[in-house]
Amino acid sequence: MPAPRYCSQCGGADLQHGCPPGDTHSRLSCATCGFVHYVNPKIIAGCIVEHEGRYLLSQRAIAPRPGTWTLPAGFMEAGETTEQAALREVWEETGVQARIVAPYSIFSVPRISEVYIVFRAALVSMEDTWGSESLDRRLFLPDDIPWDNIYYPAIRQILERYIHERAAGVYGLYMGNDEDGQVHFVR
Ligand code: ZN
Repeated sequence: MPAPRYCSQCGGADLQHGCPPGDTHSRLSCATCGFVHYVNPKIIAGCIVEHEGRYLLSQRAIAPRPGTWTLPAGFMEAGETTEQAALREVWEETGVQARIVAPYSIFSVPRISEVYIVFRAALVSMEDTWGSESLDRRLFLPDDIPWDNIYYPAIRQILERYIHERAAGVYGLYMGNDEDGQVHFVR
């Protein structure tokens, strides 16, 4: 993300890089008021919503990769819990009211400073309309999922794991990352 040019605290233009006393990372600090502009990762929260053996996917209307199918998910807003963010994104992208069952996967993408938190969820109700960020939304049986047109490899992997685990009736909890370009999950 581009570095700010002005201090968000005082509006000053004299921003300098450096490691503040007692800190471990180089920061952008304001030489006028001393405000430190911390840059922290963004959290993306979403759900695997299952309903009678079908899985809820939304078809992206927006970049990147419009037309691909994905789990409903999006950036947390300030003041939300991760669960609230996940359920709000499901509602906005699919018109589905869901309820959280349990956490399922924590996946880091350090290259772009993003963390994906995915919950297992159950469908409560489904409206006929949804928000403009989705072209379409559907409940797919596993064999009907457009596996070759899933938005991101890690999304495909956790969906495959979930479907496999549902058959066995035992669910794991996963963490992974794509730091070296590979997608890793550990149980
Ligand atoms: Zn300042």
